[in-house]
Amino acid sequence: MDVDLSALAHNYAAIKRHVGTASLMPILKADAYGHGLLACAQELESLGAEMFGVAFLEEAVSLRHYGIKTPILALGGVSGRQIARFLENNIDITASSKMKVELIDEMAGSLGARARIHLKIDTGMERIGTHHYSADALIETALAAKHCDIVGVFSHFACSETSDKTFTRLQLERFLETISLFEKRSVPMPMRHLANSGAILQHLDTHLDMVRPGLLLYGYSPTRALESVISLKRMMSVRSEVVFFKVVRQGAVVSYDSTWTATEDTRVVTIPAGYGDGYARQLSNVGHVLIGGERKPIVGNICMDQFMVDLGPDGEAYNGDEVVLLGQQGEESIDALELAERIGTDPRDVLLSLALRMPRRHKR
Ligand SMILES: *Cc1c(COP(=O)(O)O)cnc(C)c1O
Repeated sequence: MDVDLSALAHNYAAIKRHVGTASLMPILKADAYGHGLLACAQELESLGAEMFGVAFLEEAVSLRHYGIKTPILALGGVSGRQIARFLENNIDITASSKMKVELIDEMAGSLGARARIHLKIDTGMERIGTHHYSADALIETALAAKHCDIVGVFSHFACSETSDKTFTRLQLERFLETISLFEKRSVPMPMRHLANSGAILQHLDTHLDMVRPGLLLYGYSPTRALESVISLKRMMSVRSEVVFFKVVRQGAVVSYDSTWTATEDTRVVTIPAGYGDGYARQLSNVGHVLIGGERKPIVGNICMDQFMVDLGPDGEAYNGDEVVLLGQQGEESIDALELAERIGTDPRDVLLSLALRMPRRHKR
């Protein structure tokens, strides 16, 4: 697997241009969507990213361990026994309830530290955070906390990628109404951050002070319909090669469970990759690869480490020829949106699955 860091720089700059004055919090959870946590963080730090977002404390600590100095927010829920490690490593904490703020404040006080917190308001996702209709107590508690700096206040969209914009508008309204309490109390407004990839593209009024791009950074819009908004470059490509060539006779069946039958004598090659490499088994008899600049169909069930491709009766390919599973070859390309559509999942899921076991090579 090749991961192109110059594409990351391109995407970062493209998002920055699109959002204008808002800051960027690149989201690096799940090993940077499979693109490599540390390599992506280093590249983005050198580009001047204002803050990083990860899911877990452990990801943030690992970045600190490797010398990343940029502020890092762990977006997920925090448990009481993690708070000391947050403080020791100077990691921003998601304060998702009044009780959590109290815990954080107490721990910071006893360690003689100051906690950097971001208040999480639930405006409709129903994941973590205090419901918008009862968030006043959360905010008041945070304002009264002696050892906490309220760095940010945020929420998360459930449906920002869809063409129906109603729910996102409602979430934005709820958020703005909730945080108006800061103005009513005449205290400084913390950094407001709300927009994920879908909202960055199609809800400009949600950009506020900072945006939180995940998928966009790695070169994908969440849906085909949103592809024209910003011009992005894919970071990940997956290449293999032909390891076996054979002629399959008319009537012969291919691979486990005999799900494909040759309707004529045809040429079939074997590729050394499979669902053990995160190449979804559901692509059996459905997916394509690129060989010699052309699309060729996968035939039969994908095995754990191998799968077969039909070249057709006159198709040509030799052992060692390049096979593209994800990426460009000649004029043709196969991307994670295509694979996601074919198997009914999300492009993030496709990128992540592929990255779990394959060795990764970063280049510029
Ligand atoms: C994952 C995540 C994001 C980024 O989402 P994308 O749609 O991939 O841009 C932003 N904010 C939070 C809280 C997230 O969990």
